[in-house]
Amino acid sequence: EDRDNSRDVLEPEARADAPMIDPQPEDPRAEDGGAPIRDQPFPRPSPKYRWEGQADTPIGWNRFPSDWIWSPHDQWMMSYWNVYGGVVHGIIGPYSKWGYGNGRFDLAGFPGNAQMKNQFDRGWKAKELAVTFTRGGLFGGISEADIAFNPAFEWTLDNAYGARADTTAWSFEQTMLHELGHGCGIKHPWETQNVWWDSVMNYPPKEYRMPILFADDTEAVRDAYYYLASHDGLISAYETFDTPGGKNPTYKPFGPLLAQVNRKGSLSFKGNFKIENAGNGTFHDIRVEVYLCPERFGTNDCRYLKQVKYPDFMPPFAMWVFDGNSLGTVPIPEDFPLGKRYIALNLIISGEDDYLPNNASWVNEDQAVTVKPAASLSCDQSGGGSPDRGIWILATPLAALAIRRRAVYSASRRGPSPYSAYRASGRKRAPAISP
Ligand SMILES: [Zn+2]
Repeated sequence: EDRDNSRDVLEPEARADAPMIDPQPEDPRAEDGGAPIRDQPFPRPSPKYRWEGQADTPIGWNRFPSDWIWSPHDQWMMSYWNVYGGVVHGIIGPYSKWGYGNGRFDLAGFPGNAQMKNQFDRGWKAKELAVTFTRGGLFGGISEADIAFNPAFEWTLDNAYGARADTTAWSFEQTMLHELGHGCGIKHPWETQNVWWDSVMNYPPKEYRMPILFADDTEAVRDAYYYLASHDGLISAYETFDTPGGKNPTYKPFGPLLAQVNRKGSLSFKGNFKIENAGNGTFHDIRVEVYLCPERFGTNDCRYLKQVKYPDFMPPFAMWVFDGNSLGTVPIPEDFPLGKRYIALNLIISGEDDYLPNNASWVNEDQAVTVKPAASLSCDQSGGGSPDRGIWILATPLAALAIRRRAVYSASRRGPSPYSAYRASGRKRAPAISP
């Protein structure tokens, strides 16, 4: 039809708001972290299956009006799929009235129950966050898709705030990325098989709902559309594994061994992390950097602590799980800033990594660690004890008070993060600070 002529193909510049940590040069002190503890191969071809075939590309989405706060986050998520699948998602414009049955790919926005019934013949189901309705064309392809978000839920552009178990807001970007997967024909992998791997098409617990495409997702869109070559490593500060008796995987956090660490003490880890090869080439010389950051998904004032090398060659379309203890321990310097910090893992691979926004991963909100003043050893002389049986005294309760006040402030934050002002102006790469 004529209106298809106005399609614009989106530049594959995805997630302009994605936090990225500039890696350090190769650290001569880097330890060897050894082999993964799990390298279970994915089923091949991509375990995704396509329902009603594929859409003609580029899909011309009737995207959100540019003055909505959700714009251009909708288009960034389209571009993100295009990084791997080529010219899959495009846009038409300007925004016009959406409707089911109009033969177009519409972002319906946040229709209420009455409008849902009017268009789709059914209202919102309980616990339904968002939905994509698709229609099949004459030759088995997808001829129309409409994406609707449930206005009964609280939506946020602050992905760190959304990906928390203790908030009621949901990540708009993560949900849009999932629904756009349906919009180009990708279904939930767990509907037809037992899934142990990560996917944007899974239903993970809330704290793992971040706008990230995993190896299975990138392979699915490559397999369905254009098999674009890409060289791409991805890291997650958690692991997934099979749930006995369940088709969705279990998600388990990586984090600090203890919730607090003292200056001049050392930080140890518990839990496992995973590295995925989301591209279609092999990489090696894997290095993982450990940082402590004042904000989850934030790069400002992140402090570099160490690098660990993983020498194996990682094949395409793979997910490897590493023991958190392979990162060893990290001494906390005497002048390290006090307060709540989040461990960030930053991935470096051999060659040019084509997509960097998935190279840094922060621990969950409930895996934060608080840096306390140095513990001072005092000997109980009157008791005649040896220095080995000293008493550890913690100083400055004022610092603890300040941390509590900050926690209250961040817990009450709603909506877009303070970064939103320069989100629209393009890629943000705040430099990390070295000790
Ligand atoms: Zn879904």
